[in-house]
Amino acid sequence: MVESSSTRILVDAGISCRETFKRVRALGGDPYSLSAVVITHEHADHVYGLVGLARKLNVPFFMTGATHQAWVRSVRDSTGERPDPARVEFFSSGRGFLIGDIEVRPFTIPHDAADPVGFTLHAEGVKIGFVTDLGYVPASVRDHLRRSDILILESNHDLEMLRGGPYPWSVKQRVMSRVGHLSNEKLAEFFARDYDGGAAFIVLAHLSEQNNHPELARSAAERALGQRRTLLENRVLLAKQSEALEPLRL
Ligand SMILES: [Zn+2]
Ligand SMILES: [Zn+2]
Repeated sequence: MVESSSTRILVDAGISCRETFKRVRALGGDPYSLSAVVITHEHADHVYGLVGLARKLNVPFFMTGATHQAWVRSVRDSTGERPDPARVEFFSSGRGFLIGDIEVRPFTIPHDAADPVGFTLHAEGVKIGFVTDLGYVPASVRDHLRRSDILILESNHDLEMLRGGPYPWSVKQRVMSRVGHLSNEKLAEFFARDYDGGAAFIVLAHLSEQNNHPELARSAAERALGQRRTLLENRVLLAKQSEALEPLRL
């Protein structure tokens, strides 16, 4: 959840409506005060709670047209019903839009979904970069993330753990591909070579429970950041699947 003084946006809806409400309340928030939900792509771990949220909240749900089509198709296939969230609003990758006083800028990321995006969110002089679900970090994504005050980035798997882990080979290949997920090692490469060092907080997110360990992700990131002496201010945090992250305030 990204909050300015007047606007609250939920990025993705991968957990159930009930659990989402519980976590918002645990942070002292009111889920009914949400202004909008923005969706990165149609994979279940990003839209699982969408139908439930749409039933409870009379807010716009922002996604691209292709993501919407793919999502409608997958819900219809699994339940036989056509989902009908009250208010869907479409955006296009590369074109920013305003929700209240937060500007949302979506950009294309390399991932095996219909039209996946990452976001930067801008309000009150603060920039947040949010990117998960990408096989690698292309130059365009690096450009979008420059001068972010908070970076929320995928650190999906440890390559050794993935290779030796329980997934079938075809799934391992998918995860490791250019349209799969970002490994601890590839994220470390981004930190060592391309990161501008300006973020107050770096959140490692979308960690695999099977193929990663939080301390492996953290140490890979900190080692890479530590190679750059100017970056000592950066605080590295780990997002967990089971609970909300402590609020970060700027
Ligand atoms: Zn995905
Ligand atoms: Zn995902």
